Amino acid sequence: MGKIAILPDILCNQIAAGEVVERPAAVVKELVENSIDARSTRISVSLLDGGRREICVVDNGCGMSSEDSLLSLERHATSKIRSIEDLNAISSLGFRGEALPSIAAVSRFELNTCEQGALGGTSIRVDGGVIKDVREKGLPPGTQVLVRDLFYCLPARRKFLRKAETELAYITDQFLRVSLANPHIHLQLKSQEKTVYDHPKCEGLLPRASRVLGQEIAGSFSPVDFESGGVGISGFITPPDIQRTNSQALFLFVNGRSVYDRLLQRAVLTAYEALIPRGKFPVAVLFLTVSPERVDVNVHPAKREIRFRDPGQVTSTVRTALFEALSKVRPKFSPYSRQQPEIFARQTAAAFSGTRMGNVAAFPRRTIEFFEPAAPARAPVEQTPAPIDETAGEQSFSFSKLNLIGQLGNSFILLESPEGLVLIDQHAAHERIVFSSLSGKKTRAAQLLTRAVVVELLPKEAVLLESFLPSLCALGFEIEPFGGGSFAVHAVPACLSGFKPEEILRDYLRYAEEECPANEGEMMLGLARTASCHGSVRAGQKLKAEEIRRLLEALDSIDTPFTCPHGRPLSHTVPYDQIYRFFKRT
Ligand code: ADP
Ligand code: MG
Repeated sequence: MGKIAILPDILCNQIAAGEVVERPAAVVKELVENSIDARSTRISVSLLDGGRREICVVDNGCGMSSEDSLLSLERHATSKIRSIEDLNAISSLGFRGEALPSIAAVSRFELNTCEQGALGGTSIRVDGGVIKDVREKGLPPGTQVLVRDLFYCLPARRKFLRKAETELAYITDQFLRVSLANPHIHLQLKSQEKTVYDHPKCEGLLPRASRVLGQEIAGSFSPVDFESGGVGISGFITPPDIQRTNSQALFLFVNGRSVYDRLLQRAVLTAYEALIPRGKFPVAVLFLTVSPERVDVNVHPAKREIRFRDPGQVTSTVRTALFEALSKVRPKFSPYSRQQPEIFARQTAAAFSGTRMGNVAAFPRRTIEFFEPAAPARAPVEQTPAPIDETAGEQSFSFSKLNLIGQLGNSFILLESPEGLVLIDQHAAHERIVFSSLSGKKTRAAQLLTRAVVVELLPKEAVLLESFLPSLCALGFEIEPFGGGSFAVHAVPACLSGFKPEEILRDYLRYAEEECPANEGEMMLGLARTASCHGSVRAGQKLKAEEIRRLLEALDSIDTPFTCPHGRPLSHTVPYDQIYRFFKRT
């Protein structure tokens, strides 16, 4: 007697279900994707007990004939591909022909379906993979799938289900991803007979994203729209001062399919490097379009993961797209206006109610002129407003055009904007400016010192400096070792020309010893921090109006004036409506 036997179909389906149907959320995903593939314009999902007791998906799609509805429950039965060539050019979400038989093998399952225009439909009942009943039935066009008591016949699997709230959370995440990718479909989610989400059909991603993520996030979105070498990327990202503690708000899609792809995630995060702290995440909704033959969607049974044939090209395109989009982002203020603040405040409060930041337009780039710190100021800050450039276009944003109110606690700059009171952390701002200059190719140029400065270091410091010499030179330093602990500094990066080279180097070495910077980016972070701790703009330093003006102008000229290079916020607006509310004047 041979030892090998071919397994019965039901067992095969139950085994397949182990991969395809890990939990109720996977059932919802498969059923909703089937409804989308059936070109439905309306899909509703209803749950009992977080999907543990019941999942019901109803659509108004093409439906199935009675013959097809029986076939659809067979393993590897699909209407979506016929050959391997079809798989290489796949445009539907499904193609494995596994979902329905797998789900039916591990639940009490009911399929009610009726083709568009047909007189009657078909109703099929399956229990744990065994067909119990098939009958003709009068039904509305479309398909309803009912899945009850998931894993009732596999007690070991049923035990792994989490409590209803947890399963509901997984389903919600799944639902919201589908919703973002399909604004043209009316989608509903109900739980215990209550509507949790109702997303009517809408035009384009932005209104749908506003439903899914809330008005505040959607109001802060900057568009991404980029194409290079056959990879298209579109969608929205948030400015760096909106930060999340995990990657759950990174909604990434490839050819309309929601994916959890580490590679793509990392590409997004690299674009935000030195804008948000490590361990924090932006919010993003990004759709990649890649021609189907350049991506393999058949590497994961639940199709959560994908494989690019040229991952390097895809990630570099994503990075470039985001760099470009981020460089256009500006904090949201209108240019200074002579309108009465009160009227203006009401208008803006109405226009942006619930939003913290509004839409962001592309602003003309100005030439970079970096901030050189002047000698420590003693004079009090003058209360005169900065001159207003009446010729400035309505669109051009700038901190330096806002009315200067003064300085608070020698640490914060106060400005008046049409939206309200703007506070700027002067230290964070300066750090960002130095960092931007160090990372910009043009401003990185070396500035020759009129006379070389000799720095004497302790043996330990000298060894450390030797090891950093190549990268410091790349940043614009020119340092010559003299032997022993002596070094001659001939040049410094132009943006550090206002500092004492000796102090900068010594402090930088102290920082490097503690933080062990591993690459050029981290070195720049360290230098920016060191420099800002030395400049006249450190916290607790009184600034002259002229110094403030130069700081603001420098801030205007850089790409991403949102956070300091360590990711801390750099400015904050207290909106008029908040101030009015506080004084009970609304
Ligand atoms: P796949 O989606 O990979 O083809 P499934 O097991 O999910 O495999 O579905 C099998 C087939 O049943 C599909 O190819 C499709 O023809 C049909 N089908 C499933 N759900 C629906 C639906 N909601 N409306 C119309 N047809 C459906
Ligand atoms: Mg399917």
